[in-house]
Amino acid sequence: MLITKKDVDAIAKRRIEKLYDFALRTGDKRYIIQMERIALRMDITLPAGIKRGYCKKCKNPYRNQVVRIKKNLVTVRCPICGNIRRFQISR
Ligand SMILES: [Zn+2]
Repeated sequence: MLITKKDVDAIAKRRIEKLYDFALRTGDKRYIIQMERIALRMDITLPAGIKRGYCKKCKNPYRNQVVRIKKNLVTVRCPICGNIRRFQISR
């Protein structure tokens, strides 16, 4: 049996989702770091939902983060390190 890049990608994506789920449940940033490492090595872009679900700076999954909406901009503040990220709302 031949293992293609597609198969490997599917496995990697499943692992990423699982790791993200663990991270949310435990609030442990080790899962996020591991998840990022897999995505980097497998050359996979993390889904937007996951990308916005954790802090880029301290790698902690967001839990009761501060969210503000200004016009078409969403501001999310990390409760742990205070890093602020801004997302644009597309319509
Ligand atoms: Zn943070």
